[in-house]
Amino acid sequence: MLNYVNKNIKKLEPYKVPELDYEIKLDANENPYPVPESLPENLKEEIGKIIFNSMWNYYPDPEAKNLRNIIAKENKLEKENILIGNGSDEIILNLMLTFISEGKSILVHTPTFSMYKILAQIANGNTIEVALDKNFELDKEKMLENVIKDDVAMTFITYPNNPTGNLFDKNLIKEIIEKAKGLVVIDEAYYEFAKDSFVDKIKKYKNLIILRTFSKAYGMAGLRVGYMFANKEICNEVNKVRLPYNLNKISQLIAEKLYENKIYFEKIIDEILENKKELKKDLEKIDGLKLFKSDTNSIFFYSEKSEEIFSSLLEEKILIRKFKGDMKNYLRITIGKKEDNKKIVKIIEKLLK
Ligand code: PMP
Repeated sequence: MLNYVNKNIKKLEPYKVPELDYEIKLDANENPYPVPESLPENLKEEIGKIIFNSMWNYYPDPEAKNLRNIIAKENKLEKENILIGNGSDEIILNLMLTFISEGKSILVHTPTFSMYKILAQIANGNTIEVALDKNFELDKEKMLENVIKDDVAMTFITYPNNPTGNLFDKNLIKEIIEKAKGLVVIDEAYYEFAKDSFVDKIKKYKNLIILRTFSKAYGMAGLRVGYMFANKEICNEVNKVRLPYNLNKISQLIAEKLYENKIYFEKIIDEILENKKELKKDLEKIDGLKLFKSDTNSIFFYSEKSEEIFSSLLEEKILIRKFKGDMKNYLRITIGKKEDNKKIVKIIEKLLK
């Protein structure tokens, strides 16, 4: 039977998250607050009622019209410029199924979010990887050389990047979009922290796609809601691939409510950014760590003692993110609550003293 498995799938490993014993989870850039305290009581109650009254015996709106309308209005676009996904992961898969097949490639910078390459392989496509420079900036020459290749159907740029956390040069990205033969996907998963976007360029550039998610700033990672912006023709093609009821009713309703009330998230986003500043300042005082610029809700750093740092934090039940291969001396810490950040600093200080 296994001889029927597609060759490209056989080469893949299932995506595994290691099962570790932790209490403080700072490995996946989630928001540490399930429901921010800044959300008014009546809104919390309303969300409770929404879940109970959602009539989950019926299928959800297959087109998530309300949610798309709300997002469209806020971004001065139309709902036809927006598609909703079960997380932005699902949108990336749908993009691959729409634009990638054998003989076609995606272009990515490395390091970056790992799912682009995995999902391109699922669609039987190739991935061209261009390394970032030593400051984790885009390699202008190599990116521009590759975006004009006929087989490159999609170029992914993570803005700001994950795991490094930095925004790239905006003018260079514009040049990439203008010169690319294929589509350019700007993944703005951390937009609310970086506060910089290409969304105002959707009408100008017909080959531009922007990805966003409710998983980070809005603290909805467990409810799986992502969305994309693009011109209507592109949305129409990708929509053919999307499963009709891809986003469940409760996730749609809660995303609508939280997006309409996003003003209450500003306080929590500011607090996370403030905590980041403080954690960065504290970590910078420790000898043996090299920190990089962060425009997200995480801090990325280098240490010869990365393995020991990871293990001593885990001993205290704090999980951060480590990497393999060329990246084995790098770590990424998601910005947590103030008290958790203080604990981290103490543990690393003690270890490296
Ligand atoms: N893009 C980037 C850059 C990410 O870091 C992540 C999550 N780690 C995603 C997309 C996927 O997010 P979602 O939860 O919306 O699938």
